[in-house]
Order: sequence, then C-alpha cells, then structure tokens
Amino acid sequence: MIRKKLIAGNWKMNKTASDGVTLARDIVEAIGRETSVDIVLCPPFTALESVGAVLEGQSVKLGAQNLHPEKNGAYTGEISAEMLRGLFTSHVIVGHSERRTYFGETDEFINKKVLTSLANQLKPILCVGETLAEREGGSTLAVVQRHVECGLAGVTAEQITAVIIAYEPVWAIGTGKVATTEQAQEVHAYIRDLLTKLYGAPLAQKVRILYGGSMKPANAPELLAQKDIDGGLIGGASLESRSFIDLVKSAVAAGGFPWFSLRAAGMRPAIPWPAGGAFRNPPPLRNRPPDLLPARVPSAGRARWTTPHAGRAVALRRQDRRDRASHRARPFPSAARHR
Ligand code: PEP
Repeated sequence: MIRKKLIAGNWKMNKTASDGVTLARDIVEAIGRETSVDIVLCPPFTALESVGAVLEGQSVKLGAQNLHPEKNGAYTGEISAEMLRGLFTSHVIVGHSERRTYFGETDEFINKKVLTSLANQLKPILCVGETLAEREGGSTLAVVQRHVECGLAGVTAEQITAVIIAYEPVWAIGTGKVATTEQAQEVHAYIRDLLTKLYGAPLAQKVRILYGGSMKPANAPELLAQKDIDGGLIGGASLESRSFIDLVKSAVAAGGFPWFSLRAAGMRPAIPWPAGGAFRNPPPLRNRPPDLLPARVPSAGRARWTTPHAGRAVALRRQDRRDRASHRARPFPSAARHR
C-alpha cells in the first residue's frame, strides 16, 4: 500500500507573524509546488493568517497547533475549530506531549479535540508516545495503546483515514536523541496493528503514521525508509528553511508517489513534462508561461480547446481546480459514531 508521505512543521511558540512570513516564503519558493508528498506548516495562532496568505495557491497546507473542543463560549485564550477553518486551516495538532505535560491534557480531553476536528473538516495529527521513564519501565506499547485507543474513541470508519497519527517518544523531542529506526518501526508497526484491530486492514493501511522526535536531514532518510513510517512531525528542524526543505526532499526521495518518483529520478514519463516541469502543480493561469496558456476560441456552443497541448491544457485547469479545492479544507463524511 502506497501512502503519500507527509512532512509537518510544528513551529511551537516561535516566530512572530512577520518572521513566519519570511520562513514560509523561503519554503514556498523552494518546494511550494511539490505534490508528491504532503507538506504542512503549523505556525502559532498569531501567524496563521499571514502564513496562510503566503501559502495561498501553493500545495503547502496550513495547520494549527491546538484547538478547543467547544464550539464557542467563555474559554479565555482558546481557539475554536470554526475560527481555524475561517483561516483556511486544514490540519491541527492534538495531544502533543507538551500539551499533555505542561497543560495537563488528558486522553479524554484530547479525544474530544479529535472528534471536534473531524466534525469540522480539520485533519487531526494525534500525537502519542511514551516518556523516558515509561520506556525504561517497559510500558512503551501499553502507553501508546492507551493514547491511540482513547484518542480515537468514537472516530468512525469513514473518518479514520482523515486522522494522522504521530508517534513521538517524549524522550526524543527537542533533546537531539532520536529513536533508532528499529525502535521507531516497532512502535509504528504496533500502531498499525492496533488500527487494524479497530478498523480492519484496508483502512489501517491507509492511515499515515508520522515519526516525531529530533528528526533532522541527517537521520530522516533511514527513518523514512521504514515500512510504517509515513513522514515526520518536525519541531526544531522546521524553524529553519534549509533543514525543513531538506527533510521534504528526503521524503520525496523515500517515496513520493510513483509518477513523481520518475521526475525525482531524472527520468522522463511517456508524456513529456511541460516547460518548467509544472504538469501536476501548475502556476496560476495568470503567471503561466505562454506555451502553457490554453488558447480558448469563441464558438457558438461550448468553448473548445484548440492547441497542440489540448489534453495538457485541460489537465492543467483540472489541477488548478484541485489545488484551490485542497486549499479550502475538503469536507469528508459526517461525524456519526460507529461505536
Ligand atoms: C515536536 O515537538 O513535535 C518535535 C518532534 O520536536 P523536535 O523535532 O524538535 O524533537
């Protein structure tokens, strides 16, 4: 089963709105059109709007670092799902270990956030993982099982593929200590087994499980090559454009979708790439080089495409529409519970 890799940057409490714009611009300039892997930037709330403006029309998506499960009300300092959607946020991190540790978030509270995200067409990135004491005490898998099962309580079979799970051993976050590939793969495979028990193999195979914890360009290729590691949730290395871009490139090399891997490998597909290699993720029509501009001639009935690139022009327009649709978060089935 090919799962599209995902690299998400968690900026935590770093970057003012203007610093965030600078970082996002550098990222977009280098990889804004990359579609063989999913890329998500999660700035602090105060930079969501300005970073969102930079991401407009690009394939990089906007994520938030938290949300409150209630719709609205007297929750000073909190942010609702509706507020996030209003800023075109498509993803949201929930249950990060820093929220569990410093803000006392429980599995039950985190579960409410997961359900609220899904009910509001936000894709939750549910973080799970053991502390050093728990690992040394031999309870890693039990802790991960509790985090996964409690976090997903009430998530339906229709909703589960919109959930992204991030395995983040707490002892590896921000410490420079990274889990070995064997340690990470073991827990990822265990999470996949849990998902199989809960939702069946076909759905479990579709859920992406990210690794988080001191992932850097140097260790990413080995981690991302593991069978059940579908990307990374990146803290420190997402704060600097060079390292984040390199991480995305590692994910592309480790398994962008096959069509794109051809390009990564420098091979040419049967249909030649259009100028600028912009086939799947073209620039907006107004910025497109003349040889990619579809010519439209007036006609009595429906407009007809008349250019030697006719098929390509139609594909470009379709991709444009898809880009725009994916920037507004896509709706997925309703929140009816299955258990
Ligand atoms: C994180 O906070 O989710 C994280 C993985 O941080 P870092 O990459 O800095 O360890």
